[in-house]
Amino acid sequence: MLLKELKCPGCGAPLKSKERDIMLKCDHCGRISLFADGKINDVGYSIASPAKEHSGELIYVPFWIVNADLNVHKESISGGKISRFITDQRQMRGTRDFYVCASAIPEEFSREWNMDLTLDQPKLNLISDFKGGKRAVMTMRKEIAGENAEFLFLRYEAEIPGTLQKLDYDFRINSTKVLYLPAYKISDKYVLGVSNE
Ligand SMILES: [Zn+2]
Repeated sequence: MLLKELKCPGCGAPLKSKERDIMLKCDHCGRISLFADGKINDVGYSIASPAKEHSGELIYVPFWIVNADLNVHKESISGGKISRFITDQRQMRGTRDFYVCASAIPEEFSREWNMDLTLDQPKLNLISDFKGGKRAVMTMRKEIAGENAEFLFLRYEAEIPGTLQKLDYDFRINSTKVLYLPAYKISDKYVLGVSNE
């Protein structure tokens, strides 16, 4: 088998695959590319500005941002219909960005992040490099991110009071891109530290 040389889509310098990180950084020009299916993919990525004066170690955590249309055609709930109505429950419907943590951050943190960020879409200031912190390895493939986004919706529906008996919906992915969000590691805890100024 011939092993193809991996090249940076920006400058053509050779890329080395290391660790478990599927995002490879070019040592020459600094561009980051996605390594998938044995080849280099020139994916767009953004980096969000970290909150200033936060304690802990700054780490930029990769997320897959899955933009999707979610249409619910029919839903039957027993028991909780009234409480769903009166508690002004936020709805995960229509077109939105689904946040799916793509790094091996313990699930007790990433689960909450995915849900909170998807429900309350953050305002972000973007920066051009990983200033002041290191980049967490990305382990999740793009295809898995789409499945996780759909699963996030199902988990949300299941957690609303009342027993879900029937859910008929369409989930259509429009685009998938990479976003690095700043987090701070304090002993063994992780907190997101996104700047909203
Ligand atoms: Zn390069």
